[in-house]
Amino acid sequence: MYNICILPGDGIGKEVTREAVKVINKIAAVNHLVFKLQEGVVGGSSIDEFGIPITDETLDKAKHSDAVLLGAVGGTKWEHLDYKVRPERALLKLRSELKLYANLRPVKMFPSLVAASTLKKEVVEGIDMLVLRELTGGIYFGSPKGIEKLPDGQERGVNTEVYTTHEIERIAEKAFTFARRRRKKVTSVDKANVLESSELWRRVVTKISKRYPDVAVEHMYVDNAAMQLIRNPKSFDVMVTSNLFGDILSDEAAMLTGSIGMLPSASLGDHHALYEPVHGSAPDIAGKNLANPLATILSVAMMLRYSFNLMELGESVESAVQRVLAKGYRTSDIMSEGMKQISCSEMGDKVVEEINKG
Ligand code: NAD
Repeated sequence: MYNICILPGDGIGKEVTREAVKVINKIAAVNHLVFKLQEGVVGGSSIDEFGIPITDETLDKAKHSDAVLLGAVGGTKWEHLDYKVRPERALLKLRSELKLYANLRPVKMFPSLVAASTLKKEVVEGIDMLVLRELTGGIYFGSPKGIEKLPDGQERGVNTEVYTTHEIERIAEKAFTFARRRRKKVTSVDKANVLESSELWRRVVTKISKRYPDVAVEHMYVDNAAMQLIRNPKSFDVMVTSNLFGDILSDEAAMLTGSIGMLPSASLGDHHALYEPVHGSAPDIAGKNLANPLATILSVAMMLRYSFNLMELGESVESAVQRVLAKGYRTSDIMSEGMKQISCSEMGDKVVEEINKG
C-alpha cells in the first residue's frame, strides 16, 4: 500500500490534480494496487481557511506520506499580502521541512508535439533527458550574503557559492542511480576552470562515479552545456548540476520541448518526495476547465518510477499520454491546426481510457 498526500492548492492546481487522481485510481484498479490518498489544504486556500499558507496538520500529512502530489499555489487574490504570508511560502516550507535537496525535470519530446518546438525537428526529435538540480545549497543559501554600504557611498552586493562534500555526494549518488535505470550516462556540469566550489564538485562527482563503473561520466563547463543543449540535446541522458546552474539550464532544457502545461517535476530527499507540474496556478484560465493536466499526470508517472519503483507503470502512464496526443487531442495551450480541442477533464478522461490499452 502506498500513501499519497494530495495538495491541490489554488487556481488550476485544483483542476489538474483532480485529473491526476483519476489516473492514480485507474492505475490502482487495473494493477490491483492500493493507493491511500489523503488530501490537504495549501497555499491561498489555506490562508483563506486558516490564515497561514500551510498548517502543521498539512505538513504532518505530507511528512507521513510516501509521496506528495502538489498542484500549484498562488493567485492575484493574495498578491497584496506580505511575502512572509504569501501562498508561495508553503512551497519553501514543504521543501525545507521534507529536506528535498534534488530537483528532477525530465525533458522528453513527444513525437506528436515536435512541431511545437522552436528548434528544428531533427535536433529535438527523440530528446529524452533528465536534469538533476541541487536544490538546497549553493549560492542561494551561502553566507556571507547581503548588500552593504561602503564608506565612499557605494553599495556592495555579496552572495557566496558554497558546497560541502556531503551535499555533492548525495546529489551525485542520485544522478548515478537514475542513470543506471536509463541510458547509463551522467554529464556533470560545473565551472571548475574558474570556481573552487566547482573544483570540489568535480572531484567529488569523479569519486562517486567510481562506484558506478557501468555508468559513463563526463564533465562539462556550464557555458558549453548551455550551447550543447541547443546544438545537440540528444547527447544528454542525466545532467547533474548545482542550484544556480540547474535553475538556468533546467528552464533552457524544458523549453526545448514546448508548452509549460506539459512539464512535470519531482523534488526528492532521502525520506520524502514531492511531485508537481512546473507551471503555476494560472489565474487567467482558472475555473474554466481549460488547463492542460498532462504536466501533473506526467508527475504521477515520475512518482510511480522514483518513489514506488514501479517503472513499468510509470512507462504505461507516459505512453498513454503519448497515444492521446497521437490521436490529435489537445488542450488549448498546445492546440494546433487540424487537432481536436478538448477540456481539462476530457483530457484526464482520455488518458484514463488509454491506460493499459497499449
Ligand atoms: P503560470 O505558470 O501560472 O502561468 C503562466 C501562463 O501559462 C499563463 O498564461 C497560464 O494560463 C499558462 N499556463 C500555465 N499552466 C498551464 C496549464 N497547465 N495549461 C494551460 N496553460 C497553462 O505562471 P504565472 O502566471 O507567472 O503565475 C501565476 C501564479 O502561480 C502566481 O501566483 C505565481 O506565484 C504562482 N506560481 C506557483 C508555482 C507553484 O505552485 N509551483 C509556480 C509558478 C508560479
